[in-house]
Amino acid sequence: FQRLKAGLFRTSSQLTQQISSLFTKRKLDDDTLEELEELLIRADLGVETAMRVTGALSAERYGRDVTGEDVSRIMAGEIEKVLAPVAKPLELDLNHKPHVILVVGVNGTGKTTTIGKLAAKLSGAGLKVMLAAGDTFRAAAIEQLKIWAGRTGSEFIGTQLGADAAGLAYDAYKKAIEKRSDVLIIDTAGRLQNKAELMAELEKIVRVLGKLDPDAPHTVLQTLDATTGQNALQQVEIFRNIAGVSGLVMTKLDGTARGGILVAIAAKHKLPVYFIGVGEGIDDLEPFEAKDFASAIAG
Ligand code: GDP
Repeated sequence: FQRLKAGLFRTSSQLTQQISSLFTKRKLDDDTLEELEELLIRADLGVETAMRVTGALSAERYGRDVTGEDVSRIMAGEIEKVLAPVAKPLELDLNHKPHVILVVGVNGTGKTTTIGKLAAKLSGAGLKVMLAAGDTFRAAAIEQLKIWAGRTGSEFIGTQLGADAAGLAYDAYKKAIEKRSDVLIIDTAGRLQNKAELMAELEKIVRVLGKLDPDAPHTVLQTLDATTGQNALQQVEIFRNIAGVSGLVMTKLDGTARGGILVAIAAKHKLPVYFIGVGEGIDDLEPFEAKDFASAIAG
């Protein structure tokens, strides 16, 4: 929790500073409520949550003096209510051998790093993991994944640059079945510049995996970069439609002032948040806890 709090310090300190200057010796009236609502929207929390917070505050304190601490406490409570339903851990069904996790998301949002961190957790728990380099467009992505496989004692399957990603995904799945791997994690390309191509590629991957098991991929995990703010909302919309995202990992929550976006995404999309990324290191992937996150943001 201390690390999360430190990571979200910029988000929370910006908010609490603005809130305390707004509520210096002021009674809670329509103007202050409106200013507070704007401030919360600017902090990326989303209109719905901003209105929840001001609604709850108004119900409790309208016409009376309020302090920054009152606002923080009520805000933390309301944010927690928005986040609690999406704080769901990633569940693996090991009857599928392997459980297939397809990892999607815009390039740079932390797919490869998250796969590495996840592989470390899973192999640390004694599971046999295989990583497949399905981002066949970027040599660096293939290389990085291979390094993560080495670091985490996972099997690795890759192909040449430019090869068909769906072909690679299919081969990886067959190999993982043969080798009796517990979990297969497949990286993908996230070139948003060419949406039609991206869509065709992801659809094809999902289709070929389904030939080996109609339920595969068993999890479609999307990575989101907290520092991109509002943009992340749209990214979920896009990948949800293309790949049937089942849950999210929000990365780079260390040191960003835009951590509030996770609340807006939870309110809008209601997709499970499996983990949060709080650094570049192998251990910097944490389970998502609604209460901790809410109090870390509310300051
Ligand atoms: P990909 O293109 O989606 O595969 O993204 P990468 O995994 O290559 O990550 C892009 C950059 O973000 C790399 O420099 C990572 O080290 C960095 N990164 C990923 N996750 C985190 C995180 O949680 N915190 C920080 N600070 N950096 C991260």
